Amino acid sequence: MQERVKLELPEGKSNLLLHSCCAPCSGEVMEAMVESGIRFSLFFYNPNIHPRREYELRKEENVDFCKKMDIPFIDADYDMDNWFARVKGMENEPERGIRCTECFEMRFERTALYAAEHGFDIISSSLGISRWKDFNQVTGAGVKAASRYPELKYWEYNWRKGGGASRMIEISKRENFYQQEYCGCAYSLRDTNLVRISNGREPIRMGEKFYGME
Ligand code: SF4
Repeated sequence: MQERVKLELPEGKSNLLLHSCCAPCSGEVMEAMVESGIRFSLFFYNPNIHPRREYELRKEENVDFCKKMDIPFIDADYDMDNWFARVKGMENEPERGIRCTECFEMRFERTALYAAEHGFDIISSSLGISRWKDFNQVTGAGVKAASRYPELKYWEYNWRKGGGASRMIEISKRENFYQQEYCGCAYSLRDTNLVRISNGREPIRMGEKFYGME
């Protein structure tokens, strides 16, 4: 495993609120920050995740890993109706398109609001580490959300670099994290299943209905 470099928060910032999308993505980010002595709390706000039991599964795994690492976990609760309202009309947009920009912005707006109200001076997210995501799209949404508050900054650190992407996979295996098979929302579940079916594979089954439109 490639050794990590020591990280420092930019611009003299000292208290980070880390938005986490899931344990597999945040594991490496968390370990890197603990190793560097960075003070942070984890913020779980992901109203995109569908259905509810998938949301609970991803959240519980984050809760358990935070306990293990002795990191404060902030549960921002499920906000599904607002998420569906926000992406209305974008149901058939492809991944990495405008629905995803809205999805990132919604999650980061809540992260930035919580940070500003609770004494955090910088935010970042584990979303940027995934190779399935457009790093610039994620970062752009984070910078935009933080810019609403004069004292707040979004840390544009690329967690994939310096071996981060491969350590993320190693940590997921070591911790036996649940490996989700789609990005998170009902539409990504539907589209993933359509691809699987067209390739002769079994769809991801979520109870009776497997298109994620419960
Ligand atoms: S595909 Fe992923 S990032 Fe895009 S809207 Fe759905 S959950 Fe959000």
